[in-house]
This record gives sequence, structure tokens and C-alpha cells, in this order.
Amino acid sequence: MVKDQVPVSHPVAMLSDLFFLQKWLKGIVDLLFPSLCPVCGTGLLPDGQTLCSLCLQDVSLIRSPCCTACGREMIDSAAADHLCGRCLRKSPPYSSARAVAHYQEPVSGLLHRLKYQGEISVLPALREIVGLLSPFPLQDSDRIVPVPLHLSRLRQRGFNQALLLANLLFPNRKDLILVDSLIRVRHTIPQTGLDGGDRRKNLHQAFTVRFPERVRRKNIVLVDDVFTTGTTVSECSKMLLRAGAAEVRVVTLARVRE
Ligand SMILES: [Zn+2]
Ligand SMILES: [Zn+2]
Repeated sequence: MVKDQVPVSHPVAMLSDLFFLQKWLKGIVDLLFPSLCPVCGTGLLPDGQTLCSLCLQDVSLIRSPCCTACGREMIDSAAADHLCGRCLRKSPPYSSARAVAHYQEPVSGLLHRLKYQGEISVLPALREIVGLLSPFPLQDSDRIVPVPLHLSRLRQRGFNQALLLANLLFPNRKDLILVDSLIRVRHTIPQTGLDGGDRRKNLHQAFTVRFPERVRRKNIVLVDDVFTTGTTVSECSKMLLRAGAAEVRVVTLARVRE
């Protein structure tokens, strides 16, 4: 057994299961009666609307011009999309990275509640935010790969937010989502607070690809919740390309402003 793996029958695992059962039940009730804006509490929302119009206006979408590789928004430029200086000096392993919105309120708060409080009731609001980019690009991939969690983190959290977001971003292409090929084999500390070099060290050899034939010669879309420095998606991309993937493009729901 993996050293930090908690057996399913262990009391800690059972308590964790009960906690998440409670969270999921609350989420289901909220999904059935979504009348108040989940951000500001304004109600009652019109039918089909999951976020009030004021909170929706607060969403800061990432717009052109952006870097054609890393997706950074270039606010001081009126030019078309082009490579930023950093990507000109060193190309990232992925072909392109795109994010829906900047990592700020209300997106950051909704993602935080999903990830750390297990509130799946925020998913419709996130879906509405993604809908601002309708039709969503990157629908021409062969496989969709969520950035994986380590098994111990998955058990602790109860779900992988990147998988939930992959379903949300590509609702008509769920059959292409691949969950067991790219796996996280090493438990790592959270990247928050680490600088570039430490982030890379922290994630060194953290991922591997099982069943490489499933990604070989495939165009992959790699999905994560937040693009911060790109270290995580770069490490995943390297592993997928090493396993024979033809191309990796990255999509995240949010991107931290630089
Ligand atoms: Zn609101
Ligand atoms: Zn760039």
C-alpha cells in the first residue's frame, strides 16, 4: 500500500466521507433551489440565471491581445495576439494556454469555495461565467485530461476540481475525458507561496503517464482550475509529450494577474 494512503475502512476516511456526504447533500439541495446569487446573496434570480447581473459584470474576462503561447493578457498593447518576451526567450512545453477570466472576485471566491469547502452548488455559476465565452474554443481535441490530484489529496477532498471543470468546459465531449492516464505519483505541498524555482522542484517527477498508448499521437487539452506561474501545467505537458502526445494545449478557468 502507498505509504500515505488511508484505508477506506479507517475511521479518518469514514469521517471524511461523512463530511463530504453532508457537503454534497447541501450542494444538491442548493442545485435544486438556486434562487439567490451565490456571491452577493441577492435574490430572487430570474429563471435560468445563476449569478446576478452585477456579479456577472464583475467577471474580468481575459481578452486579446494575449500571448499566443502562455495566454498572458497584454494590457498595454493594441496589437494582435503575439508571443510575450518570456515565451520568446523560452517556449513553454505546451502549445498554448488559455484562461476564461482573471483570478479575482467573483471567480476566485467561487473557485475557492468549490475547492476548499466542497461547495458543488457554485458549479452553475461557474458554468454561466464560462458561457460568456460561448462557443467555448478548443472543441477539436482528441483527448481532454484534467490535472490529477494525488490519491491522498483526492480522498481528503472527495473530488478533483479539474475533472469537474473539464466536464463544465466540455459538456458535449465528456467521452474524451481521460482520468487515469496522467496521474500524480508524488504527494506535494501546495504551490502557494513558493517561487518559480521551488515550484519546479516541488513538482519534479510528481506526475507520470500510465497507458501511454492512450495519449500517443493525440491532441490533448489539459484542464486545470487556476494558471498561476504555469509550473503545474508545464510539468504535466512534459510528461504527456514524453509519452508521445502530438500536442498539449492548456485551458484553465482562471489566471492570476501578473
Ligand atoms: Zn450577485
Ligand atoms: Zn507568453
